[in-house]
Amino acid sequence: LFDSSLAEAWIRAIAAAVEKERARLTELDSAIGDGDHGSNLQRGFAAVLTALEGLRPTDPGAVLTKAGTTLVSKVGGASGPLYGKAFRAIGAALPGPAGPAALADALAAGLDAVRALGKAEPGDKTIVDAWTPAVAALRDAAAAGATLPEAAAAAADAADRGARDTVPLQARKGRASYLGERSIGHQDPGATSTALLFRALADVTA
Ligand code: ADP
Ligand code: MG
Ligand code: MG
Repeated sequence: LFDSSLAEAWIRAIAAAVEKERARLTELDSAIGDGDHGSNLQRGFAAVLTALEGLRPTDPGAVLTKAGTTLVSKVGGASGPLYGKAFRAIGAALPGPAGPAALADALAAGLDAVRALGKAEPGDKTIVDAWTPAVAALRDAAAAGATLPEAAAAAADAADRGARDTVPLQARKGRASYLGERSIGHQDPGATSTALLFRALADVTA
């Protein structure tokens, strides 16, 4: 079950992944944005790790809500409020240890929060393009009776594909949309970090 220690492990794995992939995220954001996506997330998740020190969570929601609140307050740019609200929504949906179906519902609530704030549709070349197929894969796996590791692995693979599939898209939301057709041919940085987030989930549940 996805409990408070797995939730904490997930956040630590995201922080490590963002640290490791910082240069790549920055490079992607330099091509179609302002080149700060890697540093925004690196700073944000470092602050989250600090905020989690001394927290003795009894449920996974407490960890993720804390992460979300910290991201909202510490990260500027589009991604801070979007990821921050997403983690708060995931946290609110996880009052106790969760199996694959409940975890899928929580991550769907996270996606709803991203969409409520950012108003992006699938195909707009954003976070939504990796998150949407990941939630669908998690739901399908849960419905088919998959274990948590199996479901999380399927979600991570779907998020990776979703991120790669942003390459031919023209951005319709965020800074990249200012480039119009020149945003075509580049992978979206936010969809790429969302894929890291789902890969981290697969890694810690494996
Ligand atoms: P900023 O663009 O403010 O510098 P970041 O570089 O941290 O912020 O994040 C950029 C990413 O945010 C984009 O690659 C995109 O995936 C995501 N993004 C931007 N606007 C939206 C939106 N309205 N909805 C969903 N995701 C968005
Ligand atoms: Mg940026
Ligand atoms: Mg910026």
